[in-house]
Amino acid sequence: MYSKTDNKGNIITGTTLILAVSIILMIIFIVNTLNYMESENINSISSDNFKYIIKDYNKNLEQIGRDSIAEETEKLYHAHIIHDAKGDIKKILNNKLKEVNREYKEKYGIDIRSEVISVESTDSPWKVLFKVRVKADKDNEQFNGILVSNSSIEGLKDPLPYAKLPKIYSNINHRGDKIYYFQSLSQYLRAHNVKGYESYILATAPLTIKKCPYDPYTHHGDGNTLSDCLKQGYFHESADGSCYLCRLDGKAVCPHYGMEVFIQTHTPLQNGSVSCSDHVVFHDMYEGEKLNKLDVNSLILDDSHAKKYGLVHDG
Ligand SMILES: [Zn+2]
Ligand SMILES: [Zn+2]
Repeated sequence: MYSKTDNKGNIITGTTLILAVSIILMIIFIVNTLNYMESENINSISSDNFKYIIKDYNKNLEQIGRDSIAEETEKLYHAHIIHDAKGDIKKILNNKLKEVNREYKEKYGIDIRSEVISVESTDSPWKVLFKVRVKADKDNEQFNGILVSNSSIEGLKDPLPYAKLPKIYSNINHRGDKIYYFQSLSQYLRAHNVKGYESYILATAPLTIKKCPYDPYTHHGDGNTLSDCLKQGYFHESADGSCYLCRLDGKAVCPHYGMEVFIQTHTPLQNGSVSCSDHVVFHDMYEGEKLNKLDVNSLILDDSHAKKYGLVHDG
């Protein structure tokens, strides 16, 4: 009897034990799973946050890069002479990024170290490419890579006039959105033995880079297109003209895809002179004729530029 009861008791105890162990195991399993899920969530939240900070930093590079270029250009406009624009822009950008890295540390608690690798011309004359090596740490997360950013140069001042005719030696000025060459450009052309240099006395040119919307350019001959283009002071893409970075170094031509702008003469003289695309005036120096001999504001152009813009010489 007792043994029977014992047996029964043993069976009950055994079942209870198995049940209890199962329940404990299940609880451990559930708690573990919940913990695991929770930590997965935290990880993905912090990952997104970390990614956001890096993305935000990358996005800001575009404006900071542009500001760095603008600061370099201002040197020319304040009578300085530039020898290595890319090197200077790298330094300016590195200094600006040091400040930005401090701000990110305060704002996000992230450690960022950055080093500008390169400042490059692109296949668009309106953009400059920055490459920056960035190492970032926050808690257990890390980023180590190269951030790339394209900065627009539209709206910045054209560096070429002041790079070619430094303000310390030349009578050159700017007001509103125009550059006034006074005697300086004609003197420059005279020094380069250009015939008809007098035509460039009191020449003017646009100050800030604006991309001409009249594309294809052959439409400049239609209606008021050319006069509006000149009034707005638009710049044009040109394989012969120089890119923004080379303009800072005082180069009117360069191996990169560049731009050109018309230098406008205001002369009653009817003789031929140098063709008025800026890379021709400052470098190639081949001849052109007034489109309209009787118009004091007429452009002086060579045949190939006239053709590019769909313009014809009268007579
Ligand atoms: Zn145009
Ligand atoms: Zn260039």
